[in-house]
Order: sequence, then structure tokens, then C-alpha cells
Amino acid sequence: MKLSTKILIALALGVVAGLILNLALPDAFATLDKYVLKPVGTLFLNLIKMLVVPIVFFSIVLGTAGLGDPKKLGRIGAKTIGFFLATTTIAIIIAMALALIFKPGVGDFETEGAKFEAQEAPAVTDTLLGIIPTNPVQAMADGNMLQIIAFSVFVGFALTMLGSKTKGIMDLIEQGNDIMMYLVNLVMKFAPYGAFALIASAIGSQGMDAVKAMGLYMTIVIAALAIHSVVTYGGSVAFLGKMNPVKFFKGFAPAMSVAFSTSSSNATLPISMKTAQENLGVRKSVSGFVQPLGATINMDGTAIMQGVATIFIAQVYDVNLSIGAMLTVILTAVLASIGTAGVPGVGLIMLAMVLNSVGLPVEGIALILGVDRLLDMLRTAVNITGDAACAVIVDKGEDKHVGERKEEATA
Ligand code: ASP
Repeated sequence: MKLSTKILIALALGVVAGLILNLALPDAFATLDKYVLKPVGTLFLNLIKMLVVPIVFFSIVLGTAGLGDPKKLGRIGAKTIGFFLATTTIAIIIAMALALIFKPGVGDFETEGAKFEAQEAPAVTDTLLGIIPTNPVQAMADGNMLQIIAFSVFVGFALTMLGSKTKGIMDLIEQGNDIMMYLVNLVMKFAPYGAFALIASAIGSQGMDAVKAMGLYMTIVIAALAIHSVVTYGGSVAFLGKMNPVKFFKGFAPAMSVAFSTSSSNATLPISMKTAQENLGVRKSVSGFVQPLGATINMDGTAIMQGVATIFIAQVYDVNLSIGAMLTVILTAVLASIGTAGVPGVGLIMLAMVLNSVGLPVEGIALILGVDRLLDMLRTAVNITGDAACAVIVDKGEDKHVGERKEEATA
């Protein structure tokens, strides 16, 4: 059986097992979760997280060096960032429109004792200024993705400029990348078990009362995620990337299911890159540049949750948002996603920033907290699909610049 089929079956079984344990055997769940599900899930997570920093470093150095001249880097960088900003804006507009039409926050919601301690979100200006690491080793130790990306781009650029003089290092980095990709393959063999454990654990520990109370909110978030995936990604992949959307979604499904089970774009990165390169045929140099960047700065699924949540909270607290306020929400949500890493639950921290920008009560987050774990799984899958769609489109655009694909294939 193919690995991707195994992972999908594990996903489905994980959902069913989680539901049965949650509804019928809560005591058994507690023990099983502590001694089996959590440890197996954490083992899988640690295995893939182990590969993230070296993969990002090797692949961006190779990607930048593979792009050759700085002009090309600029062109790809501009297209990538343009696509990210445009799709995130579309995502949040779809989300807010659905929430305004279906009004998930109109009704009886208990706001009395609602409490939420907002963590400090990093200021966008600090993030942008902090992109250049003062200490690249520290950036790697901390897993600071934007800083690692910046350092790797510099190294890749230097390698191109120095050419044959640095051939030894170039070979070393190429081999380092091969080693990491080999390890991704190895770790993926464990993915069905890891995914099963992570999902059964997440669903088993879910408070079902919260799910019932927040049914409409959840439905709207899920509908917006589905519409954005099918229309925005499917459409842009078909028209700009000249790829059949069915092929795109089918090919990328293994990475989506890992994102679904881990709720972390960063942790899924090694797998999403491998899947885009092997199943969607994206050049290594493009995938190695676009996807690590996207894992950090492009989070459409998260923007969708924030759009629906903001309107929901405004409705619950009976606040009328003006058009200006809604534009502020869009702008803040797009900017907020740039600075925050793709790890579980970070969307809520960014949401606090969005609510603050239009003076909505941050305590409102307490209302959606109970169902956020489930939605995090879904939106993370959408987050990384957006990066892959961008990679496919940018890759297609590079085809025009004759001969490159051949060069790389034979390199
Ligand atoms: N978990 C998401 C991600 O890693 C971020 C979020 O929405 O919380 O992409």
C-alpha cells in the first residue's frame, strides 16, 4: 500500500478512535493518552522537528545558489511575496464576508466570566528589523525561521558569486541536503502511527460541549477554508500554474495530512517540501525558497480563523465594525501573519493583536478557545497548501526562462 494511503487511513482511524474514546470511554482515554498516544505523537513530532533547521538551511542555500543571479532571486522573491499577500487578503475577505452573512455571534453567549491572558505578539517592525541575525548560530539554536532564511540567502548568494572557488562547500551542502531528504523518507515511514496518535489524542481530549455551542462558528471557519482552498488555490494553480487542481490536491495530500495531525507548518516543512518536489514536480531551487518562507509568513488558514473570529466577537459584544475598522482588521491580520512562526496555536496570539487594533475585547478569545485546537489542525493544512500553490505557480513562471529546468535536472 502507498504511504500516502496509509497516512490517510491513519487519519480517519485517528478521528474515529478519538471520538469513541471521547464519547464512550473517557477514563480509558486518559490512561491511553498518557502512556501511548501522547508519547507516540511526541516522538513523531520530535523526529520531524529535528530535520527542520538543517533542511531550511541547506535547501535555501542550494535554492539561492541554484537561482544563480540576484535578478532571478529578486524576481522570484517579488512574485512569492506578492502571491502571499494577495491570497491572505482574499482569505480574510472570504472569512469576514461569510461571518457577516451568517452571523455566528448573534445569540446567547456567556461573556460574563470570560478571561483571556493575551501574550505579547511581536511588533511587525521589530520582526522586520530582526530579520538579519546578529548571530546565525543562535538563530539556528532558537529555530528563528526568518533569520535562518536571511542567513542562508546570504550564504547561497556568496556561493554563486565565488563559483568554482567554493565548490567543496557547495558539494558539502548538496550532500547535506541529500542526507536530510533521506531522513525525511525514513521518518515518514513512522508518519501513519504518529498521525494516528496525534489525532486520536487531540480529538479524544476535545470538550464536545464547546463544539456544540460553537457549531455555527466552526462551520463558517471550515466553509471559508474549503472555499479558499478550492477557489483561490485550485483556480490559481489551474490558471497561473497550468496544473490540474485535482492533481495538485491529490499530490499534496500526504503533506496536508501531516499538517493536519501536527498543527504546525514549521514541523511539516520537511514533508511539504519533499511532497511538492516529488509529487508536484516543483524545482528544488523554487521549493527550497518559497516553502520555508511561506511556512513563516504565509498563513491563509490562520487569517481565515481571525476574520471569522473578529466578526464573531464583534457580534457577541454587540459592536458595530465600520468599513474602516474592517480594513484595519484585514491589514493587521495580513501583517500579523508575517512575523509569527508556524507553530500550534499561534493564530490566537495574532488574533489578540487584530482585536486590539480595532478595540474589540481580547477576552472574547476565551469563547473560541475551546474549539480552536480542532480548527488549528484544519487551518494549518490550508496554510501549507497555500505555500505549495505558490511554489507551483512560481515554478511554472520560471519555465519561460529557457533551459533552467534541464540544467537543474542534470546538475
Ligand atoms: N498552527 C498554525 C500553523 O502552524 C498557526 C496557527 O494558526 O495557529 O500554521
